[in-house]
Amino acid sequence: MAKCAFCDRTILFGGKKAEGLAFCNDKCLANARFTLVADQVPEDIVFAQVHEIHSGPCPVCGKNRGLVDVHTSHKVASFLVVTSWSSAPRISCNTCGIKAKLGATVYSLVLGWWGVPWGFVMTPVQVLRNLVGLLSMETSMTPSAKLEQLVRMSIASQTLEEKNKSHCESQDFSF
Ligand SMILES: [Zn+2]
Ligand SMILES: [Zn+2]
Repeated sequence: MAKCAFCDRTILFGGKKAEGLAFCNDKCLANARFTLVADQVPEDIVFAQVHEIHSGPCPVCGKNRGLVDVHTSHKVASFLVVTSWSSAPRISCNTCGIKAKLGATVYSLVLGWWGVPWGFVMTPVQVLRNLVGLLSMETSMTPSAKLEQLVRMSIASQTLEEKNKSHCESQDFSF
């Protein structure tokens, strides 16, 4: 049986074929295309943008300059049997990063518990993740691998958008 070239799951029904590879669905195909574009973004362009962001102004508060990096805060909220949790990476200065993690911790401590059973499991997990992030100091003198990854992804999505745009325009002019 065929296996998806992106997520490696066995394809039971249907599936998508492109460039001689098989995928579960359009989503896996789009993800695979995206990864391919992301991998092809030139190293020096990523490097330049990463350093510009890292030494530039904080996009959140606009006040602090330098040591701007990715800060991930972790949240959880529950309502009876429904518990949802998420981790949000954001580019900011250290001060804004600390604020976001503290905010997410308070949010989770207030709203996280009220679900069975995941509220009791995920609330300590998300709170602990924030605390670990606060204690381990995510920023350093050199940009993190996470920031590089995020920059690479955003360049890739811009590239894809431009490709789609020019594709549409050329279609408009074809008749
Ligand atoms: Zn797949
Ligand atoms: Zn800031």
